[in-house]
Amino acid sequence: MIERNARLDIIIVGAGLGGLAAAVSCALAHHRVVIYEASKELAEIGAGLQITPNASRLLRRWGLEAEVEAVAAEPTLLAVHRYSNGKVLAEERDFDMKMRRKYGAPFLDMHRADLQKILFNKALSLGVRAELGFRVSRVVSGPEVVLESGERVHGDLVIGADGLWSKCRESMLGKSDQPLPTGDLAYRIVLELDKITDPELREWINNPQVHFWLGPYSHAVGYSLRNGTMYNIVMLCPDDLPKDVSRSKGSVGEMKALFSGWDPILTRFLEQVDQVDKWKLMHREEVQSWTNVEKNFVLIGDSCHPMLPYLAQGANSSLEDAAVLGGLLSYVKSKEQLPRAITLYERLRKSRSEKIVRETFHQRDAFHMPDGEAQELRDSLFASQFGKSISCKFPSRWTCPEVQPWLYGYDSYHEADEANKSHPLSSIGDIGSASPQSL
Ligand SMILES: Cc1cc2nc3c(=O)[nH]c(=O)nc-3n(C[C@H](O)[C@H](O)[C@H](O)COP(=O)(O)OP(=O)(O)OC[C@H]3O[C@@H](n4cnc5c(N)ncnc54)[C@H](O)[C@@H]3O)c2cc1C
Repeated sequence: MIERNARLDIIIVGAGLGGLAAAVSCALAHHRVVIYEASKELAEIGAGLQITPNASRLLRRWGLEAEVEAVAAEPTLLAVHRYSNGKVLAEERDFDMKMRRKYGAPFLDMHRADLQKILFNKALSLGVRAELGFRVSRVVSGPEVVLESGERVHGDLVIGADGLWSKCRESMLGKSDQPLPTGDLAYRIVLELDKITDPELREWINNPQVHFWLGPYSHAVGYSLRNGTMYNIVMLCPDDLPKDVSRSKGSVGEMKALFSGWDPILTRFLEQVDQVDKWKLMHREEVQSWTNVEKNFVLIGDSCHPMLPYLAQGANSSLEDAAVLGGLLSYVKSKEQLPRAITLYERLRKSRSEKIVRETFHQRDAFHMPDGEAQELRDSLFASQFGKSISCKFPSRWTCPEVQPWLYGYDSYHEADEANKSHPLSSIGDIGSASPQSL
C-alpha cells in the first residue's frame, strides 16, 4: 500500500471511456483523483461498442466483470459477407468460446452509455471526485488546468483524456491543432428488438453474432447489444459531409440509396431505420511526445491516437492506456518517482497505439476493395481458408493469426509490472533511451 503522503493529486480532463478508466486505475493505485468534464451530465452519446479481450480483461481486473456481462452480448459467430449477395466469405464459429480459451477474457458487444455508467459508478465508489459541467480551456505548467471560468486548479499530474477535439493536446503542442478527415464517414444505427416484428430480424438480434459486409469503398457491421435486445449497425462509406461538419443527423433515404443492392437481410434491417446519425471519421498525425518535459502532464485515448473504428480499438486502447498508467502509478512511492513512471508510460503505449492506428488503415484497404482483380484475389484467399484453422495473413484482422494475438493478447498490467521490474520506479535517474521491447 502506498504511503499516505506519497499519494498524488491527479486531475483528469474528460469523463469519456479513457478518462473514467484512468480515474478507476489511478484510484485503485491509491491516488487522489478529480475529473473535470465539460458535459453537465453523462448523456447516452454514441452507440454500440465492441469490447475485445485486451480491454475486457481490464474490466475484470477492476471488479466489473459481472456488471459488464449483465448488459453485454457475447457473439458466438463472426462472419464476413460479400456485400451484393450476402455470400459468407469467412466465418469463425464458437467465437465466444475461442476468445475465452485463447485470451482468457471475453469478446463483448455493449452500448457505450452502459460502459460509461459502470466506469463512472466505480470511480465514484473509489472516492473519485467528478466535476461535471466544467470545461477545461488549457493546461499550463505547474501542472495546472485552467477552467473556462478562469479558475486554475493545481495537481501533481494532469491526464488529458478529452477526446478527438482535445484542448489538452493543443496545450501539449503549444499550438492549435485540428483533427484530419480520414475520407470515410459512419452512419450509426441502434434498433430495439421490441419495435421489430420481422421474425428473421428478431432471430438475428436475439442470437448475438458479429456480421461484416464488404463492398466497394464501403463496409457495414452489425451486432447485438444488451443481451440480444438491441441491434447496432454501422454503415461505413466515403465522406460527403461538408469540411466543417463532423457530425449531423443523416438522411435515411440517402443512406438506403447508398447501400441499395446490398445483402437482402441488411436491406431489411435498413427498412427498420427511421433516424440515423452521420459521423465524419477523423484521425490525427502522430505527435512527437504524449508527455510534457516536466513529466507531469500526459495524454491518453483519442486525444493522442484517434483511429478508424475498423478494428474497434479506439475505446479498447484508451482503456489500455489507462491501465498501464494506473499500473505504473501503483509503484510510485514518492512524487520524485513520477517522471520515471510517466516516461515509462509513454515508451510502453505510444508505439503500440500508433501501430494499431496504422493497422486500422490496412483493414480499410482490405475491406473496401472495389470489385475487380484485387477483390477476387482477396475473396479466393478467404475461400482457401474457409472451414479451416486460418494459417496465413488474413484479410480480416479480426481473425487473422498474425494480428489478433498481439491485439487481443495484450495485458496492460503485465506490461506495467514488467516495466517496473526492468526499470524499477524506486531507482533514481534517467531511464535513458530503452526501447519498448527492452522495458
Ligand atoms: C462509428 C464509431 C464506432 C466505434 N466503435 C468502437 C468500438 O466498437 N470499440 C472501440 O473500442 N472504440 C470504438 N470507437 C472509438 C471510441 O468511441 C473512441 O475511441 C473512444 O470513445 C475514445 O475515448 P476517449 O475517452 O479518449 O474520448 P471520448 O470518449 O471522446 O471522451 C472525451 C470526453 O472529454 C470531454 N471533453 C472534451 N473536451 C473537454 C474539455 N475541454 N474540458 C473537459 N472535458 C472535455 C468530452 O465531453 C468527453 O466526455 C468507435 C468510434 C466511432 C466513431
